[in-house]
Amino acid sequence: MKIGVIGGGQLGRMMALAGTPLGMDFVFLDPAPDACARALGEHIRADYGDQEHLRQLADEVDLVTFEFESVPAETVAFLSQFVPVYPSAEALRIARDRWFEKSMFRELGIPTPEFADIQSQADLDAAVAAIGLPAVLKTRTLGYDGKGQKVLRKSEDVAGAFAELGSVPCILEGFVPFTGEVSLIAVRGRDGETRFYPLVHNTHDSGILALSVASTAHPLQALAEDYVGRVLDRLDYVGVLAFEFFEVDGGLKANEIAPRVHNSGHWTIEGAECSQFENHLRAVAGLPLGSTAKVGESAMLNFIGEVPPTEQVLRIADCHLHHYGKAFKSGRKVGHATLRSADRKTLEAGIEKVQALIGK
Ligand code: AMP
Repeated sequence: MKIGVIGGGQLGRMMALAGTPLGMDFVFLDPAPDACARALGEHIRADYGDQEHLRQLADEVDLVTFEFESVPAETVAFLSQFVPVYPSAEALRIARDRWFEKSMFRELGIPTPEFADIQSQADLDAAVAAIGLPAVLKTRTLGYDGKGQKVLRKSEDVAGAFAELGSVPCILEGFVPFTGEVSLIAVRGRDGETRFYPLVHNTHDSGILALSVASTAHPLQALAEDYVGRVLDRLDYVGVLAFEFFEVDGGLKANEIAPRVHNSGHWTIEGAECSQFENHLRAVAGLPLGSTAKVGESAMLNFIGEVPPTEQVLRIADCHLHHYGKAFKSGRKVGHATLRSADRKTLEAGIEKVQALIGK
């Protein structure tokens, strides 16, 4: 089976690493000449709106999937005329826009921070009066890793904030005094079968995910599965979906969804029976889903900007290195390490060793 992937970054690369043993071949469409997935398949170097090359992709593959959600809606609609596309155009439309996403949470009865649509500074002033401070202003689309957002703490932060984010459509969210951030990675097959990985506890550094630790029997697992299941069914979703929550007052508030494999699920490569990448491919290909059970205790640490020397990473017991083959650049995700240990104590010792390597 030949799989087309829109985007050729590390998520596409890890997808191909998981799918190759299943006999799958990969074609990546990505404008970047150095797209790091190109080592694992054919690379069509073209813009996401380039219909001639999209048609070439559609003709070559059995189905198309995505490694990021900010794909233009026209691209998805165009491809869908010629080849099956998973997840659906509708799932991408909702997930790429924070207003649609949060409105869906509200409709489905999933708790989420207070929010308002912002089309102008006057909208912002009115929303701040209604929601109060602190609050977070976010662009509706294209935000990631803390980009495209601004925390408003005092009234001076509000003046000019809409222009600061580029005078593009935004939402204002009430600031959530969370005690933790967790994500649930789920997979849903073409037949509607759904499986969930254990909840993951996430820690960010300067808006970028730094550490994910897979939980064991988390008290909020069942609640998270209930919320995520509602979204999967509403979207008739096919593939892996990541759902990020704030932990607050012993419950959960929905932050956002990503209609794709997700950084907080990378630990599943070594830490689960079947990884998020393999399960995504199984789902979109209409194959039986794999077990999402954990294999021991597991954590993932991102390498941002640079990857420490290989021998130093591999000297740490239970440590698995993933080097994305990308040029090192400040603020860029260039690799990660997964620790898989028999018990929590050993896992925590390993986390400290990796953190020492990256100066944290
Ligand atoms: P996001 O891009 O929406 O995932 O936001 C990036 C990070 O900003 C989150 O992981 C949180 O740490 C923080 N954040 C986002 N929205 C809120 C909020 N409404 N209240 C408090 N912190 C937030």
